[in-house]
Amino acid sequence: MAKLDKILDYSLKGKTYPVKNAEQAILNANPTYLKDDWEKSCFKNLKSNVRKHYARRQNRKCAYCRITISPDGSGNAIEHIVPRIKKPQWMFVQHNLSIACINCNSSKGVENTMMQHENNYGHSPNHCPTDTNEFKIFNPHFDKWSDHFEIQDEFFLVPKPNTKGPDTYKLCNLHRYIIVLDYIDELNVRKKSFKSITKRLRKEKRPHVKEQLELAKESILEMIENN
Ligand SMILES: [Zn+2]
Repeated sequence: MAKLDKILDYSLKGKTYPVKNAEQAILNANPTYLKDDWEKSCFKNLKSNVRKHYARRQNRKCAYCRITISPDGSGNAIEHIVPRIKKPQWMFVQHNLSIACINCNSSKGVENTMMQHENNYGHSPNHCPTDTNEFKIFNPHFDKWSDHFEIQDEFFLVPKPNTKGPDTYKLCNLHRYIIVLDYIDELNVRKKSFKSITKRLRKEKRPHVKEQLELAKESILEMIENN
């Protein structure tokens, strides 16, 4: 059977979107100061290219939870690792961008993701950190996913202690049952998974995780019955 951690462990290192000259000219002519500048029509093509680029480079997996996203990123969020409300000037800095599933993107919300308060960093796009140590959470451009997360018992996502994993797990709510379901689909091991989830449920003490595992179990049962 394919090992899930291998499938999920892509990296964006050195794979930022190569902004075209025409796109750079638009960016130069339209500096961003407010989070809603993101919606300006002049950025439409650039955003569409960015979305496709990262969806492909990310092996069609969310930057954080690594569930499957659409091949062109449609329906998925262009994720700002440092939220654009914190640093609107950085909204098109390529190493601040990736594609995330809607759930990771909205759970992460507008929290500060840098080690220091955002005011301690300059506003210009050049001040967006390129050092992984400046980030509290996992950064798909600088970090190796498998250094921060692991897959236990074939398809359970677990953060590695003393890494950025635990903070990312918390911020993005990575205990969601749909992550388990997506991994199971990736492995095509639905029937077998039912037993593993039941086993996992027995030793799980945290109510909020238990609740999500119950939902996963229900959905698996449904999928098995539908097939
Ligand atoms: Zn996600």
